[in-house]
Amino acid sequence: MTAPATLLMCPPDFFDVEYVINPWMEGNIHRASHEGALDQWRALMSALEKHAQVEIVSPQRGLPDMVFTANAGLVLGRRVLISRFLHPERRGEEKHFKKWFAQQGFEVHELPRDLPFEGAGDALFDAERGVLWAGYGQRSELDSHPMIAECFGVEVLSLRLVTHRFYHLDTCFCPLAGGFLLYYPGAFDANSNRLIESRVPAEKRIVVEEPDAVNFACNAVNVGQTIVMNKAGTELKRRLTVERFQVVEAPMSEFIKSGGAVKCLTLSLSDGIARSLEAPGALVESSVVRMEGHLLDSGLLERALELTIDGGGSFQILEFNLGKLRQSTSKAEIKVSAPSSTVLERIIAQLIDLGAVPAAEDVGDAELQAVTKAGVAPDDFYATTIYPSEVRVKGKWVKTKDQRMDAVIVVDAAGAHCRLIRDLSPGDQVVVGVRGIRTIRKTESRDSRGERGGPSDEFSFMGAGVSSERRVELVVEQIAWELRRIRARGGKVVVVPGPVVVHTGAGEHLAQLIREGYVHALLGGNAVAVHDLEQSLLGTSLGVDLKRGVAVHGGHRHHLRTINTIRRCGSIAATVEQGVIRSGVFYECIKAGVPFSLAGSIRDDGPLPDTEMDLIRAQEAYSRLVRGSDMVLMLSTMLHSIGVGNMTPAGVKLVCVDINPAVVTKLADRGSLESVGVVTDVGLFLSMLVQRLDRLEASKAAA
Ligand code: NAD
Repeated sequence: MTAPATLLMCPPDFFDVEYVINPWMEGNIHRASHEGALDQWRALMSALEKHAQVEIVSPQRGLPDMVFTANAGLVLGRRVLISRFLHPERRGEEKHFKKWFAQQGFEVHELPRDLPFEGAGDALFDAERGVLWAGYGQRSELDSHPMIAECFGVEVLSLRLVTHRFYHLDTCFCPLAGGFLLYYPGAFDANSNRLIESRVPAEKRIVVEEPDAVNFACNAVNVGQTIVMNKAGTELKRRLTVERFQVVEAPMSEFIKSGGAVKCLTLSLSDGIARSLEAPGALVESSVVRMEGHLLDSGLLERALELTIDGGGSFQILEFNLGKLRQSTSKAEIKVSAPSSTVLERIIAQLIDLGAVPAAEDVGDAELQAVTKAGVAPDDFYATTIYPSEVRVKGKWVKTKDQRMDAVIVVDAAGAHCRLIRDLSPGDQVVVGVRGIRTIRKTESRDSRGERGGPSDEFSFMGAGVSSERRVELVVEQIAWELRRIRARGGKVVVVPGPVVVHTGAGEHLAQLIREGYVHALLGGNAVAVHDLEQSLLGTSLGVDLKRGVAVHGGHRHHLRTINTIRRCGSIAATVEQGVIRSGVFYECIKAGVPFSLAGSIRDDGPLPDTEMDLIRAQEAYSRLVRGSDMVLMLSTMLHSIGVGNMTPAGVKLVCVDINPAVVTKLADRGSLESVGVVTDVGLFLSMLVQRLDRLEASKAAA
């Protein structure tokens, strides 16, 4: 039923590299030889004429890329869908191709104006499978795929192109006779590679390696058993020969300077589909979400759109109401499309985390699924974030209790709760999918995130981010104010110190903060306690005399002697009661009744009797102490800070001090308004903090 092969070509009379719209063109402006291009094009045409009939469309001055007829449109039978070019540089071609097809008696179809689709460059019929493979992500828009499916009555399989070099599907993908497929997997995302593998059996997949791919081996024209391409390496040729294909090489160096080769220079006018299928359309799924807040100045909209694209989807902004005054909020309604329901759900889940809410008509109750095995969630569980969330149960939005990240939501008669997977019991009803879930984001604007850098009496002026370049004093001043405010209203501050606090000599500053009532719980590991107690007992920290800055003879055993002493007494509290320990961070905790929890780790010596080596119990103890906190001060411990960060909901002010910007970024970059990172020496930080508090205290006393 396939018609004799017919190809459309356009002579390269006006071909040149005149602009840069793909990486191949870079550095090649006006570098293509006119004579060379003409010779190569003629040689290609005579090679093709041995196997196919060639029709010609007249070239047009000022449209150098018109030679690449693959992008004229997509043809099936007597129907053509004319391209909508992404780049303005090529849009002038549209009317000439349209005219040619109309003159030849084709039934001409067009897409809406702003919906890019670059014809057979991004859409390739797979005659054996009766499907159309369609590319998106670089030039063509995913939303064009359902329209293509409708236009031709075919099943469209969407493939996402992820590299700029392989910007059209036909640069890296070529269905061949007999159900074979020549393709370069590196040009696609993982989802697309899975789709290809699920539709094309391994023995039919001919994988092209990068050296052949960059030689445009996939940009080939296949007629029967003949494949015409620019160039193929020995191994690729051997593989194709084994599959009974004959490779004809047609050098394309002049056109490659423009990012095209054999296939780009031709458009098939004779494609057919072997089996007539019912037209299932494209697998593309869409959903509409709404967002509200300082969408532009907080960068929230940008993040949402980026996240959609990065996740393999595409979007249309259906409505946007811009808040006109500085404080007014904006509203957006966004249609998100993805090549499959799984990809769509993944994207929507991330948008929900950003505060997006499904549009009214999409909202239903959250879907619940029962736990069948203790400690194991249903596969499709919704994973929580630090942001307050709500689930829709029997038509009502219910606030989730015990908000924390990386948990699941369990709904029962008492409401909705965050629960760790390990704590699930059979029968627990767990929220699955993304329907009927929303997260509440505090409205954040550029002002409130402090990007103008001006002081404000709001803690949040420091905003989420790393403040290495901002003046540490300014940050310290804000924290000092906040500590005083929390203390005054009977709030809760949790400190998470690492052993470096003691090594830098700042243990005395932390002890002062505890003594003066600024600290209400302390979370750490074995080391911070060992080093603080060693300091109190023997005047050294890891054997180093901090006052003199020198290692003490035999000091390397000091921490073991300390551990031994505490073990003999039975606990840290007992050492204080027995008068063995008379100063330091833990001494002050015991004296002031500040609860602490020490979580064990594999590198711990001892451990101290107080160190909890059962990590689940340690996490539970941390979680209990974090609950209800207003501020968490994380001081130079990556391990314990990250552990605490995961269990702290948004709304809690979080300060992370570390000398390593990477650690600070990881912790401060929760996208939350209230987290701040301070890249500095923890000793310096604590010393400045107590000085600042002392000054505030003194000025209050003077007033
Ligand atoms: P960690 O790697 O988690 O954190 C140390 C952090 O301190 C790093 O992020 C580092 O960049 C930062 N840092 C180093 N110098 C700094 C400075 N001057 N100012 C600011 N930040 C600075 O290591 P950790 O918390 O020290 O230890 C991890 C685990 O190992 C803990 O559970 C700890 O208790 C345990 N440990 C036990 C012993 C022991 O029992 N003897 C000794 C060491 C560590």
